Amino acid sequence: MKRAVILGGGESGVGAAVLAKVKDYDVFLSDSGQLKEAYREQLRKWEIPFEEGGHTVERVLDADLVVKSPGIPDNAPLVEKLHAQDTPVISEIEFAGWYDTARKICITGSNGKTTTTSLIYYLLQNAGFNVGLGGNIGKSYAMQVATEKHDIYVLEISSFQLDNMYDFKADIAVLMNITPDHLDRYDHCFQNYINAKFRITRNMRPEDCFIFCSDDEVTIGELNKIVVQARKLPFTQYGQVEEGAWLEDDTVRVRYDGDEFDILVEDLSLKGRHNVYNSMAAAITGKIMNITNETIRKSLTTFEGVEHRMEKVLSVGGVLYINDSKATNVNSTWYALESVNAPTVLILGGTDKGNDYSPLADLVREKVKAIVCLGVDNRKIKDFFGGMVPVYETLSAESCVNKCAELAVPGDIVLLSPCCASFDLFKNYEDRGRQFKEAVRKL
Ligand code: ADP
Repeated sequence: MKRAVILGGGESGVGAAVLAKVKDYDVFLSDSGQLKEAYREQLRKWEIPFEEGGHTVERVLDADLVVKSPGIPDNAPLVEKLHAQDTPVISEIEFAGWYDTARKICITGSNGKTTTTSLIYYLLQNAGFNVGLGGNIGKSYAMQVATEKHDIYVLEISSFQLDNMYDFKADIAVLMNITPDHLDRYDHCFQNYINAKFRITRNMRPEDCFIFCSDDEVTIGELNKIVVQARKLPFTQYGQVEEGAWLEDDTVRVRYDGDEFDILVEDLSLKGRHNVYNSMAAAITGKIMNITNETIRKSLTTFEGVEHRMEKVLSVGGVLYINDSKATNVNSTWYALESVNAPTVLILGGTDKGNDYSPLADLVREKVKAIVCLGVDNRKIKDFFGGMVPVYETLSAESCVNKCAELAVPGDIVLLSPCCASFDLFKNYEDRGRQFKEAVRKL
């Protein structure tokens, strides 16, 4: 019996452990931190031995195969030891892919992954496919491969998951964009991060499809350097393409295999320029999957969006409150600000991941009437924006929302799109978004 060790006991690790068990491995799960009780219960139910609060190094090194959680970096000492002795270290997605014959639609990029993944999933469901949703979102892909049967999977895949993928092949790969993010995990080398993102095209063949944004210079630069076997389907908001999606005045046009689909931008349920890209990627996928124009239209006009992404919370006293807590980098806040059309009180701040705020300067001057910081250390924000607009500081969602309510007048927007991670004051971005919404509801 082959020995599989699973490093990390979160959603993906527990799913991988169950799949390994089902596939007759001798499985052991090891986590340096504490597991959630629900995961402990699952492991017990499946009779999978596990440890937490530290790794028994000999037992890990004794593995024939290691499935590593995307949260553990490749330069963790234990992982380096595994590499040194040539033990295969793979991601949960790679592992599940070995045992899955379903068609796989995989979405990656620096921004827009969850939105586009959810939209494509919604579209395929509306078209009546037996489809699973997984990867970086929802229920673990490996768990579904172990215990369910789907004909198609829509998988959101982060660069960390791509890092440890080797034989996996997407049938349709979608690359939304590439902007600097997580560089701390890539030796501060942007090219390493680009290479990770492009692993989404690995093993693809001419009958597979690669959907990408041809307005993204980094993507185009890379495509000029490497060979991607798959059929290429670009989407753009500037100019026209032969196959793929483009914008013609106020209409999104899609062409695939001589067949066309079009929809007015104003009919798309997801608003903002970034969401035009997300909708284009979904529409191209719909055409490849042979979904009727009617179903594509219905899906793009009725999709309700994802929590914490430009989520409209409430209008209070004529002021619209928007929760975009998921915007944890400059690029996503840029798109958020770009999409609002009223004077805005902008909530910024949190854990700065080395932000360069300059791309926001023009939009802030144009649309923002005040910035309210929601974070512990706001020096960089004050230094950069202080000369442009008034900047206030707050330390809780409630005081922040109260300050915004004081500053906003009817017709204004209060936008939480903080550009930063949330760990200084909140558990995670979801916690930040929920506390923000609660505070708004209390106004
Ligand atoms: P991800 O899963 O890649 O983090 P999300 O779909 O969760 O992306 O969106 C995160 C934030 O990024 C949103 O709040 C939005 O402001 C912004 N965003 C969404 N789609 C795009 C896009 N195509 N390009 C740039 N920014 C985007």
